Amino acid sequence: MITGIRGFKDILPGDVERWQFIENTARKVFEDFGFKEIKIPILEKTELFARSIGEDTDIVEKEMYSFLDRKGESLTLRPEATASVLRAYIEHNLYKEEPIKKLYSIGPMFRYERPQKGRYRQFYQINAEVLGIGDPKIDVELMVMLLHLLKRLGVEKTDLNINSLGCSQCRPQFRETLRSFFERRLNILCPDCKRRFTTNPLRIMDCKVETCSKVVSDAPSILNFLCSECLTHFDEVKEGLRIFEIPYMVNPYMVRGLDYYTRTAFEITTNELGAQNAIAGGGRYDNLLKELGGPDIPGIGFAMGVERLALLLKERKDLFRFPKVFVAALGSEAQNNAFRLIAALRLKGIWAEMDYGDKSLKSQMRRANKLKVHFALIMGEQELKSGCAILRDMETGHQEKIDLSKGIDELIEKID
Ligand code: ATP
Ligand code: MG
Repeated sequence: MITGIRGFKDILPGDVERWQFIENTARKVFEDFGFKEIKIPILEKTELFARSIGEDTDIVEKEMYSFLDRKGESLTLRPEATASVLRAYIEHNLYKEEPIKKLYSIGPMFRYERPQKGRYRQFYQINAEVLGIGDPKIDVELMVMLLHLLKRLGVEKTDLNINSLGCSQCRPQFRETLRSFFERRLNILCPDCKRRFTTNPLRIMDCKVETCSKVVSDAPSILNFLCSECLTHFDEVKEGLRIFEIPYMVNPYMVRGLDYYTRTAFEITTNELGAQNAIAGGGRYDNLLKELGGPDIPGIGFAMGVERLALLLKERKDLFRFPKVFVAALGSEAQNNAFRLIAALRLKGIWAEMDYGDKSLKSQMRRANKLKVHFALIMGEQELKSGCAILRDMETGHQEKIDLSKGIDELIEKID
């Protein structure tokens, strides 16, 4: 037997209903907030991710699925969506027709990580980006939308963490202060962080090694280094969240795993998932469009992990759909009638089933029970002669005679 690849999961019926619920709800909420869907390829040139996410990030350094194609070009299965959305926005000159674009996309991402609960090598993200507006109201609007979506999904016990990562004006000074802070503690940092110390000391802040995070907890706060524009921006974000009565926590040590963030960064966590506690994360990336060869305009976005949400919705049995009616027919003539009848019901949008093959009534009713149908419609020889059938409500056991000789309208009225 050939098995699937480690960390790549099949999402089977029984689970897929939660995925569909999450995706459908996200589409509805995002479109109510003015977002349009964009479908982007899952494969891009490696350079796109290396340049945007950053060479020293965990993602680019050790998690990417990169390979050479038949012509020797390095390609990568996308580890996140923002880079591709921006590439498409720039490549198709979307900013020329209207600089402000709200885009969302849904699809699989790929990262070579150690598979465990809530962490896979292929996983699904729903992401949203707003390009062209630097106003802090947009930061607030995006968080409001994300929390509204979570509420619609019934996920309410979450925490919102926010931070500001400054801009190209104020961050360099913070980076230098951070470097001298870590310089004095270099001997206790992990080997990766020793290297990050030279290449990109901010990345040390995101290290998951315990000794490193302990050092980080005493590090200087970026918030003391923000320039006045960044400070005002951050104040307005916090003010906006207060207006919407959204509780938040300021976490000056949250830098997130991607290099491109500027100013606002945010993360939504839950304490119901154990170690993999982040359900969504995002932030502003005001320099990224320019860095990718596009116009000098700001952007902000977030990504939400579908698997982790699906784990939180594990108990939602109400998401399953069952057939409305099962037609049990006895004898070949009744079977033919049943066959036509279920087709007619389905064309009217009613999920109807029957048993194919000449089975006893008892065996057909067993199947009806197994399918958890709402109604059974019994067509025996007696009923056939009179053009009638017996409709049985499977929950109450109530039975009544239905006249089918003049069509199926009466039946539809009774069951729909
Ligand atoms: P984590 O800290 O858990 O590794 P992250 O910061 O790498 O998360 P992002 O890159 O911000 O995550 O992606 C956004 C969301 O995508 C996460 O909050 C999480 O819900 C989900 N996610 C990230 N990596 C995985 C994975 N390997 N498997 C499943 N979901 C994931
Ligand atoms: Mg990660």
